[in-house]
Parts: sequence; structure tokens; C-alpha cells
Amino acid sequence: MSPDEPADGPHGALLRALETHFGFSSFRPRQEEIVSSILSGRDVFAALPTGGGKSLCYQLPALFNGGLTVVVSPLISLMKDQVDAARENGIAAAYLNSSLSLEKAQKTWKELSAGRVRLLYLSPERLSRPAFRASLQGLGVTLFAVDEAHCISEWGHEFRPDYLTLGELRGEFPHVPIAAFTATATRQVQDDVIRRLKLHSPLTVRTSFDRSEIYYAVTPKDNVEKQILDFVARHRGEPGIVYRSSRKAVERTADSLDEAGFRAVAYHAGFEDEERRRRQDAFVRDEVEVVVATIAFGMGIDKSNVRWIVHGDLPRSLEAYYQETGRAARDGEPAETVMFYGPKDVSTIRYHIERMEVPEERERAEARLLEVLRFADSGICRRKLLLGHFDEEHPGGCGNCDVCTDSVAAEDFTEQAQKILSAAHRTGERFGGYHLADIVCGNATDRVLDLGHNQLPTFGVGSDHDRTWWLSLLRDLESGGYLARKDGPRSGFRITPAGRSLLRGRNRFSAVRRQEPAELGSRAGRNAVVGQGAPEDSEEAERLFQCLRSVRLKLARQRNVPPYVIFSDKTLRALVRERPTDPEAMLRCPGVGKTKLARYGDIVLEAVRSFLSGQSCP
Ligand code: ADP
Ligand code: ZN
Repeated sequence: MSPDEPADGPHGALLRALETHFGFSSFRPRQEEIVSSILSGRDVFAALPTGGGKSLCYQLPALFNGGLTVVVSPLISLMKDQVDAARENGIAAAYLNSSLSLEKAQKTWKELSAGRVRLLYLSPERLSRPAFRASLQGLGVTLFAVDEAHCISEWGHEFRPDYLTLGELRGEFPHVPIAAFTATATRQVQDDVIRRLKLHSPLTVRTSFDRSEIYYAVTPKDNVEKQILDFVARHRGEPGIVYRSSRKAVERTADSLDEAGFRAVAYHAGFEDEERRRRQDAFVRDEVEVVVATIAFGMGIDKSNVRWIVHGDLPRSLEAYYQETGRAARDGEPAETVMFYGPKDVSTIRYHIERMEVPEERERAEARLLEVLRFADSGICRRKLLLGHFDEEHPGGCGNCDVCTDSVAAEDFTEQAQKILSAAHRTGERFGGYHLADIVCGNATDRVLDLGHNQLPTFGVGSDHDRTWWLSLLRDLESGGYLARKDGPRSGFRITPAGRSLLRGRNRFSAVRRQEPAELGSRAGRNAVVGQGAPEDSEEAERLFQCLRSVRLKLARQRNVPPYVIFSDKTLRALVRERPTDPEAMLRCPGVGKTKLARYGDIVLEAVRSFLSGQSCP
């Protein structure tokens, strides 16, 4: 589309396609900008969080530009589902990867050569073969979309060597725009991706990484199997994932859930590929409700209705924690997460770190551990800290984490904060936590005496608390952005502008002191997320929802696709609210486009009608 088309022309046309093919009435933040940029031939780098709607950004242009959109995706296990989902939306899609039989691959080639495919999914290893890339030349490629683009960066946490050859695309297809998408972008990774893919002054988009629909909580470990069981029991019937740090723990938890009558499966690297795929499929298809997994699980999961995530152990890094919790709520409906952790987790991770051979690796691992501990230990809004990891400012007070919903009690520590900030100030903002804590506690260590810091007015002003207490307060002040390290994780503290205002009494500081585990266990974290809801929370609505769910499952089985490909939970909720009895009303529900209406309209409308007339679910 060119800019000199009629005023609302391009916009109107995109909106119509959005409505017809995807059943959505408006774009998510920045989607339209990305689509327009692609259509005008400009490269794109887009960092959008999971569930941000990346696939639409390249699927929609595929409908417009007439040629072939090539999507590079590392997740072979996911490709079929992605293609099925696109086809459900009426887009001519296909894939080529090593899992296809020769016969099927030949058939796909025929379709491609005849120009009947708009969207082609490929694995990176296939594209890494020069001969294969050459064979794409004749197919009228109009866009390369690189999914999970952070895999090209060694700074990313999922580096894949075969992504490196994607750097060849620019030279071999100089006129074809490249659009890179990722949900993991620190600035470093972003720069790296742009450089390695040789993007040419790309439109660079970052939306907020905030997943506002996810509730975060951290709870001290007490009897973790029981804690997990209690949590899962509150979510009976809802799909979710439990992450554990070892295979043994995975097996134990899966057994205990199984005994308690949950449909749970274990998943870890000890199973053969085939068996892993079977277990993953069972989860994706709603046949089991819980997967208990090591970190090996999840990259290939596109399931949109995961409603809860449990971390049974401290995660390795905040990045991993963000990605793992991020597998919940892709459909934008509320989800609840909890992390259980105890001191033993820390010693286990330290044990592994100490055995790392390369000093730099060890240091990186140690820094990651400190970051995740700061998150777990502090009394600062969890969302603020998580987003801080992506250099994103959040004011705190999110209202949807345990800290902000009072499940851990906050106290005012302004005075104590001022004492320790003052110690930092009076010693020239050069010292680390231990020394500062010694000063306020009044510990006359050799170092304190040598430096004459026992002469300071702040010496001993905080002797009512011990050193550990002050260290933890220092961590809170650091997490809250009142103190910052000069350089590197072990260097001294300097006072930030926010810290200065606090020192001068211009603002107050509160942090959390934990309640006992017993109290936490009984708290319904869900209060935070449920009850935002409307009439649909009623019992009758729930029955209709379950009815539509079973209709969806039947359809999914018939078509041999995962249920969410038919309709997301969000769409089901909308159907429950709308209770459509005619096609127009059904089209008003987000996620219902013309293709899906034509395919499933009759069955869904029939189900709603018979439900409303008091008959049971068909
Ligand atoms: P990502 O790949 O960024 O994690 P997806 O492409 O899987 O996200 O999209 C997440 C969910 O959001 C999907 O269920 C998708 O249908 C939905 N979605 C995408 N764009 C829109 C939109 N404009 N309006 C409503 N829902 C959308
Ligand atoms: Zn919060």
C-alpha cells in the first residue's frame, strides 16, 4: 500500500482484514505500525512480550502483499499447530521441516511453486542450507519474519548456532524486508539481533513487558509438596505448569498430584523425544491438566489458556522466571503464579555455581542468582522489580502481586532507611552493604576502626536490629532504586536521586516483613484476580463455559488440532457473556472471524440455544 491512497484507505483495509480473518475489532498496541512498516518494505525489530500478538504482525501482511511470507521458527514441535491456526483463520499456510514425510514435502513444494501458499514456516536449519535458500529465489518471497529472534544472539539465553546463517538473507534477498520478533529483549540482545540480521534502519518497537493479567507471589517453602497440592487444588480443572529444578523433584511432585486425583504428567530431559512430545501434546490438547516439568518444558508451548504457574524451587534467573511465568495467560485472561523458595534452594544453586569452570560464567551465574534473590526477598512490588530487569520503569503498587495485595504486611521503614542512607552518605558513597550495616549496628570491626567510622554520628544508631536485618533492608533499598551499585554487583553503593529525596524526608519508604508460611498458605491469592469479573462469574455462566469447552474439545478432536486453535478461552468467555443465538451476535465476540463463523457457527449457536432453553449441553 502506498501513502497516497485515500485517507482512511490503508487503515480501513487493514482493519477489515483483521476483522474478517482474525475476528478482532482493533489492533493491540503497535501491531498496526509494524504491519504498515512491513507492507511499505521497511525492516522491523519488535520486542513484544509473550501474548503481545506477534504472529498477527506477519500473518496479516501475508494476506496483503500477494507474495510469500517466510517465517523462521525454531520450534518444529509448534509448526504444525501454527500452520493449523493460520489455516483456521483462512490463510493459505504450509510448513517444511524434518518431521514431514518426503511425499508431504513434495506436495508442499508443488503448492509453493504454483503460488498457492501465502505463509511458509521453516526451521532455521533448513534455511541454513545455501541450496535451499537458492530454491526460494523463484518463489516471490515478500517478507522474512524471524520468530524468537533472540536465538541469534549469544547474549540471549537461548542461543542457536543455526540462527547465525540468517545473516546471509540480507545479501541474497536484498529487496525483501526482514522482520525480527522476540519476547526477550534486553538492549544488548536487541542491538545484537539488529546487527547480525543486518537490518536496515528498522522500525524498532518495544512495548511494555508488563503482563498485567498475571498475579505474582513468592511464598517461603515449608512443606513444598503440600503447598503445591493446596495451590493446584484451588485451580482444579484449569491447565497449569509446575516447574521443579530436578528430575527427582519432578517425579515426586507428579506422583503426589497423581495420587491426589489430578491428571498430571511429568516432563523432563530423561524421556525420549517421542515420549516428551506425547506428553506435551496431551497438555496442549487439554487431556491432562498439569505438567510438572524441569526447565526443558515450555519453549514449544503456544497454549493460550494456561491459567497458573508454580515454581517449586527458586528459578535460575529472573529472565527464566519471567519467561516461565509468561507462559500463562497468553489469551489475556487472569492467571495466578506462585514461587516457593527456601534457603536450601540457594545453597543448591551456589553448589552448582561453585563448580563452574569458566570464571566469567561463574560470575554471570552469581549475578543472576543475586538478582533473583533480590526479587524473592524484597518487599517491593514484584512487577516493579521484574520490569526493572528489562530497564522498564514501573511505579510499583501494581495491585496484582502479593506485595501489593497485602498478603505480606508492609511496614514503614523510613526512619531506618534514612539511618543507613546517611551512613552511606557520610562515608562518601563508596562502601558495600556489610560495612554500612556494621556502622549502623555499631560493630567496631577492624575496618570500621581503621577508617574511623566509629566516630560517625550514625555509628550504632541501628543497634536495635542485627546485621542480617540491615542487609535485607539494604537489598530492599537497592531493589527499590534508592541505592545503586557504582559498578558491578560487588561494588559500593551510591545514593540515587530517589534515595536523596528519601534522606531529606521528602518521601517515605515501606517494605514488607513476611507473615508466617501457615498464614500465607491459606490465603486465596486468587482474590486478586477473580472478582474483577462480571456476571460471568455466576454458576450458570460457569456451566455454559464448561459446555462450550466440551464443544470445543469435540471440534478439536475431529479436526486433530489443539483446542485453543479453534477458540481461545477469551473467546469462550466472550461467548458466555454474549450468549449469541444468531451469527451477527457471534461475530461480535473477539476471536470469531468469518472463517470460524462459517466453520463452527452452527455448532456453537446450537449449543448456546439448547443451553438457554434449559436443555443440557449437546
Ligand atoms: P505472541 O506470539 O506475541 O506470544 P500470539 O501471536 O500468540 O502472541 O498472540 C497471543 C494471543 O493474542 C492470541 O490468542 C491472539 O489471537 C491474540 N491477539 C493477537 N492480536 C490481537 C488483537 N489485535 N486483538 C485481540 N486479540 C489478539
Ligand atoms: Zn505489585
